[in-house]
Amino acid sequence: MEGAFDILVAGAGPAGLAAAALSARSGAKTICLTGPDTDVDPRTVAIMQPGLRLLQALELWPGDLQGHSSPLKKLRLVDDTGGILAAPELTFDARETNEDAFGWNVPLKALCPALRARCEALGVVFVSDSATGLELRGNFAAVSCADGEDVSARVVFAADGRASVLRKAAGIAAQEWAYDQAAIVTHFAHSADHRGISSEYHTPSGPFTTVPLPGRRSSLVWMERPARAAEIAALSGVELAREIQIASHGELGLITDAAACHVFPMRGLTAETFAKSRVFLIGEAAHVVPPIGAQGLNMSLRDAALAAELAGDALQWGDDPGDDKLLARYDRARRADVVPRQTVIDLMNRSLLSNLLPMELGRALGIGIAGHVPFIRSRVMRQGLAPETGLPRLMRA
Ligand SMILES: Cc1cc2nc3c(=O)[nH]c(=O)nc-3n(C[C@H](O)[C@H](O)[C@H](O)COP(=O)(O)OP(=O)(O)OC[C@H]3O[C@@H](n4cnc5c(N)ncnc54)[C@H](O)[C@@H]3O)c2cc1C
Repeated sequence: MEGAFDILVAGAGPAGLAAAALSARSGAKTICLTGPDTDVDPRTVAIMQPGLRLLQALELWPGDLQGHSSPLKKLRLVDDTGGILAAPELTFDARETNEDAFGWNVPLKALCPALRARCEALGVVFVSDSATGLELRGNFAAVSCADGEDVSARVVFAADGRASVLRKAAGIAAQEWAYDQAAIVTHFAHSADHRGISSEYHTPSGPFTTVPLPGRRSSLVWMERPARAAEIAALSGVELAREIQIASHGELGLITDAAACHVFPMRGLTAETFAKSRVFLIGEAAHVVPPIGAQGLNMSLRDAALAAELAGDALQWGDDPGDDKLLARYDRARRADVVPRQTVIDLMNRSLLSNLLPMELGRALGIGIAGHVPFIRSRVMRQGLAPETGLPRLMRA
C-alpha cells in the first residue's frame, strides 16, 4: 500500500475518529488503524461550544446525538473540603457568555459510533489492526502493523491513547506522573430536576462532579483515593445510591438506579513535543489530565481539528504535509493551549489533596478572585470553553 494514503490515523477512540473524519472531509485519502478491540466506553464527556461546532461541521450536531445528550447551562463549584479557609461557592451561567449552554454532556457510547459512521460515509478505510512501529521512507511514513503488513501515508495522526506506540516509535519522550486518586464513573436517577446545572463539589480526595443527562438523570465523576474507590465500586446499587445522595447533600433529591461503576486510575502525561518525524500526536497520546473542568477531550478535538486543517491545506496546495515547519507550527499552537491548562488542573487537584494551609488559602483566594472580579470572571469562563486565539478554523464562532 506504499504511497496509497495521505493520512494514516492510528486509534479509533473519540480523538482518532474525529481526526479521521475531518481529514477525509478535507479531501485527504485517509486510513484508520483501529487498534485492539476495546469495551464500550462508559464515560460521558462535556463537549464545549467549539467542540459542538466541530460536530456540526461533520453534520453530527444537532441530530440524533443531541437526543442522548443534555445542555450544561450552569457550572457550579462548591468547596466541600471542610477546611478552615473555605472558598466561596461559585456559579457560572452560560448566559454571561451569550450562549444558552456552555456545552452539552454527550455519552461516548453514542459519540464514537456516530463519528465512525460519518468516517465511513466520507470514505475512511478502516483496518482492524494495531500499529507496532514507524519508518520514514522519503516523503512517506511507513507504519508497521501487528499482522506484519506496512501501511504508508504522507503523515500519521497518532491517536493511539496514553500508551501510544507511535509516540515512542517517533522518538518522542513523555513526562508521566500518577496521582494518588482514581475516578469512579457511573450515572443515576434523581427525584429533583438538575435544571441543566453541573455541580463540582471539591472534597479532600478530589472533585465529586454531577453532570446533567436527559430527564432526571445525571452522570457522575467521583475522584477518591484508590482504596476507597475500590470499596465504592464494590457497593450494591442501593448502597451506591445512598452514598451519592450523601455526597451530593441531597441537592438532587432521592437518588435511585445507580449504574455499575467503572474506575479510572488518575494519571498525567505531557509529550515533550506534539509532532515529529511526520507524526502529529492527537488526544491522550499527547496529553492526559484529570477530569477537572472538562478539558481532556475538548483539547483533543482541537488537536484533531488543527492537524486535519494544517495537513489538509498543505495537500490542497501541493505542499508536503509532513514538512518540519508545519510540524513545528502544530507543536507550538497545541502546546500553548494544552500546557497552561494542564498546569491549572494539576494545581487545583493537588491543592485539594494537600492539607497544607497555604495551598488551601491559595485555592480559596483563586476561586474567590475568579468568581468576583468581573474581568477575570468573564476571562475564566471564555478560557474554560477554549483558548481565545489560535482556534482551528471550523471551531470558531
Ligand atoms: C472519568 C473521566 C471523565 C472525563 N470527562 C471528560 C469531559 O467531561 N470532557 C472532556 O473533554 N474530557 C473528559 N475526559 C477525557 C476524555 O475522556 C479523554 O480525553 C478521551 O476519551 C481520550 O480519547 P482518545 O481518543 O485520545 O484516547 P482513547 O479513548 O484511549 O483511544 C485510544 C485508541 O487507540 C487505540 N489503540 C491503542 N493502541 C493502538 C495501536 N498500537 N495502534 C492503533 N490503535 C491503537 C485504542 O484501541 C483506542 O481505540 C474524561 C476522562 C475521564 C478519565
